[in-house]
Amino acid sequence: MSDVDLRAEQYENCREAGDILAQVRDEAAERVEVGTNYLELTEWVEERIDELGGNSAFPLNISVDHEAAHGAAGIDDDRTIGEEMVKLDIGVHIDGWLADTAITVDFTGNDDLLAAAEDALDAAVDTVEAGVHTGEIGAAIESAIDGYGYNPVVNLTGHGLGHWDQHVSPNIPNREVSQGTELDVGDVVAIEPFATDGTGKVSEGSREEIYALEREGTVRNRAARQALDQITEEFRTLPFATRWLDGSRPEMALRRLQRQDIVHGYPVLKEEDGRLVSQKEHTVIVTGDGCEVTTR
Ligand code: MN
Ligand code: MN
Repeated sequence: MSDVDLRAEQYENCREAGDILAQVRDEAAERVEVGTNYLELTEWVEERIDELGGNSAFPLNISVDHEAAHGAAGIDDDRTIGEEMVKLDIGVHIDGWLADTAITVDFTGNDDLLAAAEDALDAAVDTVEAGVHTGEIGAAIESAIDGYGYNPVVNLTGHGLGHWDQHVSPNIPNREVSQGTELDVGDVVAIEPFATDGTGKVSEGSREEIYALEREGTVRNRAARQALDQITEEFRTLPFATRWLDGSRPEMALRRLQRQDIVHGYPVLKEEDGRLVSQKEHTVIVTGDGCEVTTR
């Protein structure tokens, strides 16, 4: 296969992942109600992605109210959605080519906060074309959110999407910055504004339900070795849930891998003032005169 064919195939896979993901996101959002069970929603999303011919690129993130990201269902999780601001962040891949999207479903009555994230994403997507500086995208996000009297979450960013790699450069800031870089034709990037009525900074909580491989390594314990084999073959460096591991004691296997720094966790990220956070995210392919949104 020539380089050109390979590249064409890459974009076809990105587009297919985006199509599947857009459908699953919209269907999942319809299923979110007060009382919806985290685990049931998560399993439904995973099965639906599978049915449509995709693969989960990371566990469904369900983050509510002041949680901005990395909330997810654990094993035997019996939590349900309350009268909250609910962010669903979902990823699909086809042969490691990724699409990443997020939507907010609100039961708190803060329509403006929801609109701020939505408008910020629209404004950001409008700026994207080959040669645009990432700081300019951030400025569009910041200005749209500021127009509502809210703040962007400044220590969360959008990101490039690589092959089997969910976070590659460049970062797409959620505010105006002078450092940064220019986007090129063919870049695949996820843009994800977060809006809040707090100061706009998140920090790590204690709960962790999402993990990823940190480095290669060897472990003596049999269960940990089996888990590591599964991780390196099935998920590679993509994030995964404890629930996805085979074996009878996945939590113990995971703890061993974490202790040896072979696997790292993603703690839930919370707005520092405990204020509400909204989010919206799309994946785009940069073109000469604009961009193609794969997750619309
Ligand atoms: Mn995402
Ligand atoms: Mn993302």
